[in-house]
Amino acid sequence: MHVLLLGGTSEARQLAVKLDGTHGTQVTSSLAGRVADPVLPVGEVRVGGFGGVDGLRAWITDNHVTHVVDATHPYAETMTEHAVEVCTEMGVPLVLLRRAPWSPLTDDDWVSVPSMEAAASALAERPSLTRVLLTIGRQGVHHFAALDDRHFVVRCIDPPEGDMPRHTSVLEARGPFELLGERDLLDEHRIDVVVSKNSGGKLTSAKLQAARERGIPVIMVERPGVPDTADVVATADACAMWLRTRRAAGGSPDGAGVGDVPT
Ligand code: NAP
Repeated sequence: MHVLLLGGTSEARQLAVKLDGTHGTQVTSSLAGRVADPVLPVGEVRVGGFGGVDGLRAWITDNHVTHVVDATHPYAETMTEHAVEVCTEMGVPLVLLRRAPWSPLTDDDWVSVPSMEAAASALAERPSLTRVLLTIGRQGVHHFAALDDRHFVVRCIDPPEGDMPRHTSVLEARGPFELLGERDLLDEHRIDVVVSKNSGGKLTSAKLQAARERGIPVIMVERPGVPDTADVVATADACAMWLRTRRAAGGSPDGAGVGDVPT
């Protein structure tokens, strides 16, 4: 069994640890190479794009990949599209590892929007919200560039790409983020609105609690959908079980499916 583990998330690293040393299972973790100083998974790692669907197809063939786990971030839409297309065409079993999204609690004031463009429009429609904590990563900041009447604190691991709003402070930081620090951040910068992707998970959720405590609204950019043909699990444990089940079934795409395992 040779598992290609498309990574870039904490769940992908957890899965690499779980699979490391499993008899008869080779695992290659794959990173896009976007972050200058990435947290590397244990085991074998390759870095860099494959070169589109043709490159991914060739890599799977040349390296005798038997199973693919797409454990990329929920917003890494292109990589997922490529994985689904190539695995479907080649008959290689594929599972998507997607952590559960966050849901608003009673005291939350969320505006859910479908895209970065819609998040920028939602901000533009609310001129009273002048001090923005933007936690969408470094890609996509340009969507907010026209909002030059607001002050942005952009938090990301590496500096943002492309145009930025005129009044921007960049805070280079990598999670996990604790509640005390998130409270201080909101207070220090007098933040009155948070813009976030619905990444899910515990590592970056403290900002939502800090916003809740202060009655600060959150503009939440919801996730792109997942292809309804793909098997989806929510945890590294469930993914390891999916692989075990597939292995027991001889890797057949028609073998026992994800419906048999917890997500
Ligand atoms: P994307 O838009 O879906 O992918 C763009 C291109 O990057 C892909 O077509 C592929 O290039 C390459 N790529 C992406 N993930 C890869 C991987 N795991 N291994 C090898 N190549 C990969 O992805 P993205 O949103 O830029 O995210 C890039 C990476 O950062 C992903 O690994 C993702 O898990 C991680 N990440 C993303 C976010 C986010 O908010 N988007 C947040 C945290 C972490 P080729 O076409 O050349 O194969």
